[in-house]
Amino acid sequence: MSTVVLDNVTKIYPGGHLAVDRLSLRAGDGELLVLLGPSGCGKSTLLRMIAGLEEITSGELRLGGRVANDIPPRDRDVAMVFQSGALYPHRSVRKNIAFPLEIAGHEPTGIRNRVGEMARALGIHETLDRLPNTLSGGQRQRVAMGRAIVREPSLFLMDEPLSNLDAGMRTELRMEIAALVRSLEVTTIYVTHDQVEALTLADRIAIMNNGTLQDVGTPTQVYNDPATAFVAAFLSSQQLNLLSAVVRTPQNAHIELDFGSHKIMIPWSDPRAYVLSQHHGRPIIVGIRPDGLQPVTGGPVHGPIFSGRVRTLEYHGHEWMAYVDAGMPAAAVPEPQQRFVRPAQNGSGGAGKQIRKLFSRLTPTPAAPPDPVSPPSHSGSHRRADLFVRLGSRQMWSPGQDVQVTLDMSRLLLFGEDGQRVDPPKR
Ligand code: ADP
Repeated sequence: MSTVVLDNVTKIYPGGHLAVDRLSLRAGDGELLVLLGPSGCGKSTLLRMIAGLEEITSGELRLGGRVANDIPPRDRDVAMVFQSGALYPHRSVRKNIAFPLEIAGHEPTGIRNRVGEMARALGIHETLDRLPNTLSGGQRQRVAMGRAIVREPSLFLMDEPLSNLDAGMRTELRMEIAALVRSLEVTTIYVTHDQVEALTLADRIAIMNNGTLQDVGTPTQVYNDPATAFVAAFLSSQQLNLLSAVVRTPQNAHIELDFGSHKIMIPWSDPRAYVLSQHHGRPIIVGIRPDGLQPVTGGPVHGPIFSGRVRTLEYHGHEWMAYVDAGMPAAAVPEPQQRFVRPAQNGSGGAGKQIRKLFSRLTPTPAAPPDPVSPPSHSGSHRRADLFVRLGSRQMWSPGQDVQVTLDMSRLLLFGEDGQRVDPPKR
């Protein structure tokens, strides 16, 4: 019964920096929820607010159904592991893991058994009598984890626990963490900036950018059906193709995505057609992962075709990638508007006043309606994109060659100019 609910939580640091912006999120009992986002997006701040190490400026935190904003950290029944799991240097591994149980007054035989179980689960039982400075980084991090979990907290918080380890050790420990927290059924919130770590570990992933929650869902939901252009780009291990297109509805016959040099037709029978038609005359952002584009090699083609010239090829070991100039305009990932808050002045009303100022600046200005006579065009103002195409294990093209690629229409990701999905995913 250790659910975590964040309800409209905001954190403004003294000095006015808005680190977390009206964020609502829930971790279910026993769930492994990963907080993912670039450095500085507010992940650690959120985790520290849950642990009680950072005050919540506004909004509510509920732990196990109980409002916890003002509960002192030691009464929250939360254990935390940091990037460099600091251990007591003069205590053996056994004594490090046993420490929380000793403090809690458990009897020695119980402690010995529990520490033994924990050490076996973490694969460090052979190191129990060694001192921390004789261990590898991976072993030290296992000890830190053992010490955090040994007293079976209701909630386990991990802040980039693998980021100081080398790649091989990260992969190994990642699998073990997943197995361990699942076997213990402890609700766990895990912070990382590494999308592979998030996709492989999580029950659900919450993706943050600039203090805002961008999306939350299972790994397959957020990868295949991302809510924003930021999420699509951040979760792509290979560069996401982001193109700018103008939406048109010629004679109402179908929907057309106009890329200038190329057009794509979307029939009215397509489930996205109606919402797309609402963008008539306006530019949208089209996202295509490199494996959503296939080289045309002479066989039957089922999707639209883009023609272009190979600019360059890249060898990635297991596959070749191509950059193809097809004369299409590039789009950028829209950043959430950076919001500023003035620092509170002495005796001037503190956080409440800061928030009022903040919200008065956040009131959106209504968007101007599209001009039906002169819709936006691609006339020269846009940078041209190189289509990034996955070729597979064979170097089938060469630089300068004129080529064609076809598009898998089911892999098109459509975003408005604000970066939100045109056809919002169901969660
Ligand atoms: P992340 O964990 O995603 O890297 P953080 O939560 O550490 O991000 O930081 C979010 C933002 O808040 C950053 O811009 C950071 O500089 C700022 N920040 C973090 N801690 C403080 C602090 N104690 N005082 C002022 N600003 C802070």
